[in-house]
Parts: sequence; structure tokens; C-alpha cells
Amino acid sequence: MGHDMPVQGTTPEPVGDPQWVAWTLRRLSGSPFRAKFRLSDADRAYARAKGRATIDRHAHEMLRTRVGGAQPIKDGKQTPWKGHPVFAAQHATATCCRGCIMRWHRIPKGRALTDAEVNRLAALVMAWIDRDLRDHPAQPEPPAEIVKSTTSQPKAAPTASMEPLF
Ligand SMILES: [Zn+2]
Repeated sequence: MGHDMPVQGTTPEPVGDPQWVAWTLRRLSGSPFRAKFRLSDADRAYARAKGRATIDRHAHEMLRTRVGGAQPIKDGKQTPWKGHPVFAAQHATATCCRGCIMRWHRIPKGRALTDAEVNRLAALVMAWIDRDLRDHPAQPEPPAEIVKSTTSQPKAAPTASMEPLF
């Protein structure tokens, strides 16, 4: 969705995916329409609860099934505005429909996305989610024991299973 004008890069389009992702995020930040998107509090809580590997898998699956085909169903309207962190990220990164993907990322319509294209667009979506989460750190838990019991038992250490950005 959206009829914003794609922003041209100030440097040539890089070849490697990490460089391309950074270059594309800079272009997207030049579009008022794209730059206004944020994850909701619910999106952030969901992303942190699920962990990065799961959201990355969702990003690949959702791009493949919703925009990856040669003729995606309801193309131009298939990406809700909210309900999953990847949805917001797709609007923010112009990976929401084949029209936006064509105009911003110069991938033609009418054919399926290749695996390499899905991987590259998923990397862009995840970099955008990473940045939003980094810019909005999780709120610390409120103190667990405001009324402290007399029997202080050693508490289990907080699980350190979350990945740094999530
Ligand atoms: Zn779109």
C-alpha cells in the first residue's frame, strides 16, 4: 500500500545483502510515509516473547506466501496494518505488495520471487524490526518482592535465553 515516491540512493546499489539492507534502510528513512511506521507495544512484546529466530522464520514464510507468488492474492491489499510485527515491518520497508516491491526494490511483477529475493527482503524486514526493538528497549520488570518474605530463598537466575536485540 501507499503511493509514496521511492527514494533514490545517494550511492550505487550495493551487491552484498548486509550492505544492501543498510543502503535500503537509509532510502526508506527518506520517505515520510515509510518512516512513520513503528511496532506497536503488542508487536514488541510478541517479538521478544517469540525470539528472533521465530520472527525471522515468520518473515520468510509471510513474504513467500503473501507476496512471493507470481500473482499474489489481493495484491496491494494483502498486508494488514497491524497484528504481527512483520506486517508493520513490511509497510515500513515497502515489501507489503508487489507494487511497492517493484517500485522500491525493482523486482518485476508477474513472476514468483526467487529464494534469494525472499531472503534479501526478509533480511530487510528483520533489520527494521531489530532497529525498532533497539530503539524501544523492554521495560524492566517491576520489583518482584515489594513485600519481602522473611525466608529469603535463593531465586533462580533470570533466564538468559533471549537474544541480545530481543
Ligand atoms: Zn505495498
